[in-house]
Amino acid sequence: MNTNQKINGPRLWDCLMAMGEIGATPKGGVKRLTLTQVDQAGRRRFTEWCEALGLTMRVDAMGNMFARREGRDPTRLPVLFGSHLDSQPTGGKFDGALGVIAGLEVMRSLNDLGIVTEAPLELVNWTDEEGSRFGHSLMGSGVWAGVFGLEEAYGFTDTEGVNVSTALDAIGYKGPHPAAPFPADAYFELHIEQGPILEREGKTIGIVTGAQAQVWYDAVITGQDAHAGTTPPSTRRDALVAAARVIALVDDLMRERGEEGRGTIGQLQVLPNSRNVVPGEVRFSVEFRHPEAAQVQGLTQSFPDQARSLVAQNGCKLELTELFHIPPQPFDTECVELVRQAAARLGYPAREIISGAGHDAVYVARRVPTAMIFTPCKDGLSHNEAESILPEEAEAGCQVLFEAVMARANR
Ligand SMILES: [Zn+2]
Repeated sequence: MNTNQKINGPRLWDCLMAMGEIGATPKGGVKRLTLTQVDQAGRRRFTEWCEALGLTMRVDAMGNMFARREGRDPTRLPVLFGSHLDSQPTGGKFDGALGVIAGLEVMRSLNDLGIVTEAPLELVNWTDEEGSRFGHSLMGSGVWAGVFGLEEAYGFTDTEGVNVSTALDAIGYKGPHPAAPFPADAYFELHIEQGPILEREGKTIGIVTGAQAQVWYDAVITGQDAHAGTTPPSTRRDALVAAARVIALVDDLMRERGEEGRGTIGQLQVLPNSRNVVPGEVRFSVEFRHPEAAQVQGLTQSFPDQARSLVAQNGCKLELTELFHIPPQPFDTECVELVRQAAARLGYPAREIISGAGHDAVYVARRVPTAMIFTPCKDGLSHNEAESILPEEAEAGCQVLFEAVMARANR
């Protein structure tokens, strides 16, 4: 492979900034919620850029967008790459957009260099990766990969009561193509790490080998509402005190597993939430993650009983509902190897890394050989308007994407 074939870093950066203007927030981030008019504006701009390069745009019934560049050999399956253009309500300019815009830069560079790959290429923008509007993350790639049914996803509603089907129609992105897996040769996704590891270790490229296992619960602790002034300790059934013990347990179970452990209670609702009432009910979320399936499996066996016994000691009752339990998703060894080789050839400091977050690539990997490339982000900060990366890091990630895609498409 001729590493003199360079993508255009400044053009990539300008294009990232141009996409960042759509839904720009005063604090320098973006609010480009899925299937809103702002998302529509982003999709239209993306389409114009793709069509200017001679790519053919295809939209499926979930609004997933595929911009195709033909290869020399019409019998070859396409090599896919991309990410998502939707954002959190107070999101950054790079989460998702980096992978899509870098993919666009790959297409632009191929045009500039006059290269026709053997296999066709398709640049993908997946619908609703973030899940912040309809409550289900990885929705477009999830329907595509068969994780959710199309009708099921169409029925998901936002807080205003608008469902996905209506929202797709409203912005004109319920496309004619089936939202179902089609044969593809590979999928590559460049994404910011959204964590601190690469920056801390001075690495430019993360060679992502897979995503970790997760289990999510909804928990309800029931005690008894009582007068704060008249109820002595012996008769209290304080649901919040019981919840506090469970929170400490989740943190202990995480820390017992060292730096790879993850355990979080991110939502908590206290009822009746009055300063002079002993709380009779607390509702909260619990999630655990770990790169090893056995660790998460072990937690699903030990945590519910341990939590129930702590809650019982406080005279309360725990109801625990397992929302989902997903195994670790290893990425394809050959695709991962192409990422590793590209980073090595280019001389970028790199390390293997497991994805701590969910990504479209995790669902796509169930259908198509997949790998991801991570680049650092400042202070590991993401899902935040202050999310920030360096132009040279974006360029490095894009160059690795370019070479991995070229290697796969010409093999
Ligand atoms: Zn993302």
